[in-house]
Amino acid sequence: MSELKDVITAYRKLPFGDRVVFYSTVSNDVDVREETVQDFLIETRMGESLSCLYCKGDHVVRNGKRKDGTQRFLCRDCGKSFIPGSNTITFGTRKRMSTWVKYLKCMLDKKTLKESSEECGISMPTAFSWRHKILDALREVTDKVYLDGTVEADETFFNVSYKGNHKNSKTFTMPRKAHKRGNDTHAKGLSSEKVCVPCAVDASGISYARPAKLGKPSSSCISTVFDGIIAPDSILCTDNEKAYRAFSKSKSIHLIQMDTDSHISVRDGISYGIQRINAYHRTLKEFIGRFHGVSTKHLGNYIVWNNLIANNRKKSEETLGQLFARMLSAGISVRNKDISSRSPLPSLEV
Ligand SMILES: [Zn+2]
Repeated sequence: MSELKDVITAYRKLPFGDRVVFYSTVSNDVDVREETVQDFLIETRMGESLSCLYCKGDHVVRNGKRKDGTQRFLCRDCGKSFIPGSNTITFGTRKRMSTWVKYLKCMLDKKTLKESSEECGISMPTAFSWRHKILDALREVTDKVYLDGTVEADETFFNVSYKGNHKNSKTFTMPRKAHKRGNDTHAKGLSSEKVCVPCAVDASGISYARPAKLGKPSSSCISTVFDGIIAPDSILCTDNEKAYRAFSKSKSIHLIQMDTDSHISVRDGISYGIQRINAYHRTLKEFIGRFHGVSTKHLGNYIVWNNLIANNRKKSEETLGQLFARMLSAGISVRNKDISSRSPLPSLEV
């Protein structure tokens, strides 16, 4: 009995993310009690001084409870009334937290919309909007990375897809005419109708990528994408693309470009290559390929998804709890119409 008591006492001391991990480890189900989630949200979003979610003022009072038992707060500084989960992606969705955890687990297992909606008992449109809400909330996890040491970078290209822009839109018109038969777009030269995605990966396997523009990358485009991502004094290995030169120079990064038609470069007896970034491209292409024609306006989110998995491959159990905690406490709200009205092409048109 005393061992059981010890386990229970230890369990109660665990941080919220670890409790989620504990549940999913000892059972196939995930049980996240609503009260625990509320306590976690108060702790992480309002802190000990119970500050306002909107104005950060600390003249906040408890203001009764909702029918479902959730504590309501009122800020005497800005006059706003809120609950601990206000302005988060799960707010107002009327689904149990355990359903959200289960859904996040499906995403880490790379499940399709159909598989996830069946497993979680939600509709396909709900599954679609949750996918993007979760990726919006977790974008910071993959965007705030810092690559150092020996870093490899190279861009990859995806076909433009306007899927999801036609219906429900009074303003969107196809920006290009349909191709005539026999008019091969490939013959026109490199990728002017493809989305350029600069990617980088360091020796520890941490990767970063984002859609930048149509066609070949420019120097300013490379600088914008990798600014603050690749550490100064790191060694950057790329192919012979000129666009990396100005960026490396301005950031005191040591650039090693592969000799033309070669995948390695030998400097001072050490051989440098771009195999790691090529492997990253293959994994990314394979991942995006699972979803059969990802719309360009959502490509950035699918890259976030790929990198969430790729950057955390070694510790998947831990990751579920930690990511759920991050997802819950990210102070963003995403409406369904925000998802459908995203820009059809990458906004980084440098
Ligand atoms: Zn306030």
